[in-house]
Amino acid sequence: MNDRVFSGFGVTPESSEWLDWKWQYRHRITGVGELAEVISLSEGEKEEISRCLSGFRMAVTPYYASLMDPADPTCPLRMQAVPSVEETRVFPWEKEDPLKEEKYSPTPHVVHRYPDRVLFLVTRQCATYCRHCARKRNVGEEDFVISEGEKEKAIAYIAGTRSIRDVLISGGDPLTMDDGGLEDIVSRLRAISHVEIIRLGTRAPVTLPMRVTPALLVMLKKYQPIWINTQFNHPRELTPQSLKACADIVDAGIPLGNQSVLLKNINDDTETMKELLLKLVKARIRPYYLYQCDLCEGIEHFRTKVETGVEIIRSLTGNISGFAVPEFVIDAPEGGGKIPINPEYIVSIDGEKVVMRNYEGGIYTYPQPREK
Ligand SMILES: *Cc1c(COP(=O)(O)O)cnc(C)c1O
Ligand code: SF4
Repeated sequence: MNDRVFSGFGVTPESSEWLDWKWQYRHRITGVGELAEVISLSEGEKEEISRCLSGFRMAVTPYYASLMDPADPTCPLRMQAVPSVEETRVFPWEKEDPLKEEKYSPTPHVVHRYPDRVLFLVTRQCATYCRHCARKRNVGEEDFVISEGEKEKAIAYIAGTRSIRDVLISGGDPLTMDDGGLEDIVSRLRAISHVEIIRLGTRAPVTLPMRVTPALLVMLKKYQPIWINTQFNHPRELTPQSLKACADIVDAGIPLGNQSVLLKNINDDTETMKELLLKLVKARIRPYYLYQCDLCEGIEHFRTKVETGVEIIRSLTGNISGFAVPEFVIDAPEGGGKIPINPEYIVSIDGEKVVMRNYEGGIYTYPQPREK
């Protein structure tokens, strides 16, 4: 707990200001000067951070800042939210739009990459900007609001495309919108008969848990079935306040999933990942994906070797509950989509039998059916 945050803002963790998401949002830390008041920064670090900010803006909610270790530059929460000079290094393989989302965008703010579902990017704002964000291209323009006309067009595209049965509302973070703005979108999507499920992708439970208010949940419940996916990356993010927000979501009958990003020196070891996953399932949050980092500009320092992720999944599979283990995926460059990268369990397979290796390394044979 970083008490400098509370004294800096002159509040207590129980105060009504602190518990008000709009207060948190308004008081986000966006400049180096404010940041230096809550964590220790050398003059060199301050200068480096300023340089980074011209590329991708910073914002940290006081809540998330309060979880950072003020003295430790390797704090796993701090590394996710505070810029590092590494961001300014750009490598030839990095792309502004690594997933070629532009190519799959039939109308502004809609990405239609898979047959039955679309991504609907409704805002470019987030409560806290993740330094590892893969969607930097679309994120951080605070004055951007989807225009009524663009919203109309996006919804018309979804309404006119009968194959779409799943709409994933994302951004930016849709929970930076107020309830009214969000309800306008959700209610219009719900009115489309072929849209069976609506998903929200949001990091609010992690960086702004006070956003999950009773009023928000009452509103969302009117438009069931709704699913929410969030992004916890480290066990320390599961604070009592986050756990409460997640419990409220699940108690409202909204299934809650988690999509982590595999991040070097943050969660790229089995022990940390295991602790995170077990805490998630204990909180009734279903681990969904573990993402390999995308080839986005300025995030090379977060990338791990692919084998690291495979090894983590291999060491957890069989050793913890099956539903606690996420699917490890690479969102393939050039618009290839998400591809599962699994440890290999098949040793050989032919018309007669499959030979398999189990989680303990034992070899087992299963015969194929005999017909034909
Ligand atoms: C990830 C993603 C989806 C959702 O994919 P699921 O595997 O169903 O979670 C949809 N559209 C795009 C463009 C995506 O990147
Ligand atoms: S909340 Fe999502 S969109 Fe926003 S900065 Fe983080 S990863 Fe990017």
